[in-house]
Amino acid sequence: MKKYLMIPVLCLTVGYNAASQHYSEVKAPMEEKMEVLPLNSVKPTGWLKNQIRENLNGFVGHLDQLAPDLIIEDDIYNKGRLSKNSKAKELGALGEGGDWQIQLFWWNSETQSNWRDGYIRSAVLVNDKLHLEQIEKYIHTILKSQDKDGYLGIYDSELRYNFDNENGELWAKASLLRGILAWYDYTKDEKILAAVKRAVQNTMDNFPMGASHPFYTKNPNVGGLSHGLTFTDVLEQLFYITKDRKYLNYALFLYTDFSEQTINEDAQFKRLLDKEEKLFGHGVHTYEHLRCLAAAYYASGNENLLLALKNFESKIATTTTVSGGPVGDEWIGKRPADATNRGYEYCSTHEILHSYASLLAKTADKSYADKIEHLFFNAAQGARHPEKSCIAYLKSDNSYEMSGGLNGDTHDAKQTRYRYSPVHKEAAVCCVPNAGRIAPYYVQYMWQKDTDGLVASLLGPSVLETSINEKKVIITQQTDYPFENKITFAINTRNNLFTLKIRKPEWAEKFKVNMPFTEKNGYITIDKRWQNNDKVVVEFLPEVELKTDNKGDFYFQYGSLLLAKEIEAVETVTKTYPIKGFADLSYKPVDFTLYEYVPDQKMVQNGHLEFETRLFNTKTKQLEIVILKPFGKTILRQTTFKKRP
Ligand SMILES: [Zn+2]
Repeated sequence: MKKYLMIPVLCLTVGYNAASQHYSEVKAPMEEKMEVLPLNSVKPTGWLKNQIRENLNGFVGHLDQLAPDLIIEDDIYNKGRLSKNSKAKELGALGEGGDWQIQLFWWNSETQSNWRDGYIRSAVLVNDKLHLEQIEKYIHTILKSQDKDGYLGIYDSELRYNFDNENGELWAKASLLRGILAWYDYTKDEKILAAVKRAVQNTMDNFPMGASHPFYTKNPNVGGLSHGLTFTDVLEQLFYITKDRKYLNYALFLYTDFSEQTINEDAQFKRLLDKEEKLFGHGVHTYEHLRCLAAAYYASGNENLLLALKNFESKIATTTTVSGGPVGDEWIGKRPADATNRGYEYCSTHEILHSYASLLAKTADKSYADKIEHLFFNAAQGARHPEKSCIAYLKSDNSYEMSGGLNGDTHDAKQTRYRYSPVHKEAAVCCVPNAGRIAPYYVQYMWQKDTDGLVASLLGPSVLETSINEKKVIITQQTDYPFENKITFAINTRNNLFTLKIRKPEWAEKFKVNMPFTEKNGYITIDKRWQNNDKVVVEFLPEVELKTDNKGDFYFQYGSLLLAKEIEAVETVTKTYPIKGFADLSYKPVDFTLYEYVPDQKMVQNGHLEFETRLFNTKTKQLEIVILKPFGKTILRQTTFKKRP
């Protein structure tokens, strides 16, 4: 039965039992402080564009050919939709595989849709005609698969919206519709928007708010089911476009039902209220759910959800490494971040960036931008191969060996995640698709609008094209940031009065600006009537900083760049692919020596972004001159250094 709640928004409660009412009640819905700009308002240039182009020429542009059985040959959203029959067939073939086997039913929808989301965004951002044509064909085909009632998804009519266990109903839609909405941003084709609205309405009709339990399951250990909470991404995006609050109210309903069901997930309201309960779950779920909770909080303005959000962020701080990597290999397992003994998954690195981006827009709090910058320039770059088109599924800040297990651990013969691959099919094709999403998401969130004007939250080579006061504004960031620290903002607009805010990175104590400004909430703020050819030149003046991690070990940072001592490595090709240029790669150290920190050693810049200092060689028992270089450009490395006793 379909029910529609027609209750004034201020007394709306989307939960359905007394226990949930104290956090599911809509009290005072909140406005986001900054406006998220549509994809392609900011275009990358310089190294950011090169990286997206390299990905497109590499694993992003070829993943369908590298894993054709998962992408091309499994038409899971259309002719290959899952039915009771396919379930029986798959179960028989898989045999005993533990809790994870059930996930294989929806798995290819994630691989396909997350890959396509990154593929679409990359092709749009570098304006690649050939790939754009391919995508147009794909969008046409997928929209043709939409049923008369609006259903877009992976289940036949018998199975859909009818589960008592693990399933991918919402997750397959969330990942699919994120990509389709990115295409809408680019094309502004109203037919596409109408199709997405119909698909979402079909979901809202069949999982009616307050009268259904989308997250109900007999088995509390779930995968696709709880990934499905990111359907809130689609709902928020539709709200941005339509301004219809029904989408936000539904996001609150989803978070409430997710919290009420018996499932093992960190982001459930009751667990978050318990400050002492450590994060234990599957990392990628936990880190993506941060923004789902934020969506629920903004939909309701309920202070109980704010408390949960703050607790959640405090817990995440304990599981974040010095590179910004959110640990979980694949599980967080109640253990804190550790530079040597904890790995982080590429999926989690992307998802937490997206969560922080969502919080940045909501709060205008620059600390989220600092977090994004740090993790994108360090953790994300440091798990992407610096020269070849492949990534590490799992990576650690101190990376001593990348041949399967964590730093050479061979206890689990099946552990293949700590190495480089353009696919990682033995483990799962989840991280490679997300590695194709992260740079486009960084680019999209570089600029926001607020009520005063424009905000440059994330820095780097790019061109913004938008309008303020109904006048066109183009702002080019001319820079190689973070590989240089001078940025020229070249402005093109006519006689246009607005405020330009430029984020001052948290590390930037010294800086210069070529015109009068004020500093407000960590932003360099300039109120001005802007004219064509105005230029704001900002120069940050970093010094190498000595910092300590949660264990008291030392590490070095220069500007936004974490520094590391590179470890010379021998490369082994463990697998090649039919497509030239792609391979799985393992790395072992030529000579593994740990170094220790001794206070008061000189630090000398020795070439562009290379620094010379002395560390204690634990083999020779001597202080030795070593070179530190950007962490993001290394494969094997030592990043943190114990103090010499
Ligand atoms: Zn992954």
